[in-house]
Amino acid sequence: MSSSGVLGRKPMLLVVSSPSGAGKTTLTRRLMVDFDSLTFSISYTTRPPREGEQDGQDYHFVDAAAFETMVSEDRFAEHATVHGNRYGTADAQIREAFAAGRDVLFDIDYQGGRQLKAKYPAEAVMVFVLPPSMEVLAGRLRNRATDSEDIIRRRLEKAVDELGHYHAYEFLVVNDDLELAYDQLRAIYLAATCRWDRRSPMAEALIHEANLDEFGPQ
Ligand code: 5GP
Repeated sequence: MSSSGVLGRKPMLLVVSSPSGAGKTTLTRRLMVDFDSLTFSISYTTRPPREGEQDGQDYHFVDAAAFETMVSEDRFAEHATVHGNRYGTADAQIREAFAAGRDVLFDIDYQGGRQLKAKYPAEAVMVFVLPPSMEVLAGRLRNRATDSEDIIRRRLEKAVDELGHYHAYEFLVVNDDLELAYDQLRAIYLAATCRWDRRSPMAEALIHEANLDEFGPQ
């Protein structure tokens, strides 16, 4: 399913967070394939690229000095240290997406999510993806061939800390059955496009035509 690139309504920031291993990358990638109304936010990071990752596509890979320059120039809408590396979202990217009338999808951690919600309270739609159990989470992290045992152990410890921030999110998706989890994420996105404050031009026209403005929430 596809929808128009230019929305004709106010855009949203769809923020998806989870501990690593909960499956948010699979879910967000799929959402990007299904909706061309969404732009994926490409973060800046000081983490070295993993095999197969491309600069400008998966991340903007920068060194620590370049990252700190961006921080000091106030060019990030949010930034955080995750697993010892720096990650950040350029504010210019959000402004450009808004100017083009497009929704933005974020795969960022809870620290970044919290900052985006504070900066864009009306636009941010907050989704937290949970693993079905700690056992499943640990298993998924171990099955990732790309990282060393030490990194996996650190990620498990961090996962417990990250899970504790679920209450900062409006929606919780448990990724036990991937198909169900994806249906839920898709439903959240679609429902958010219909929110009162994001109404479509057709809804707006009808409201005016029927002189209904005074019944809307203030
Ligand atoms: P990875 O290095 O495995 O791609 O990502 C590690 C963690 O950093 C993930 O939880 C991911 O969501 C988070 N992350 C990626 N980009 C950003 C960002 O721009 N800001 C923040 N705060 N977290 C990010």
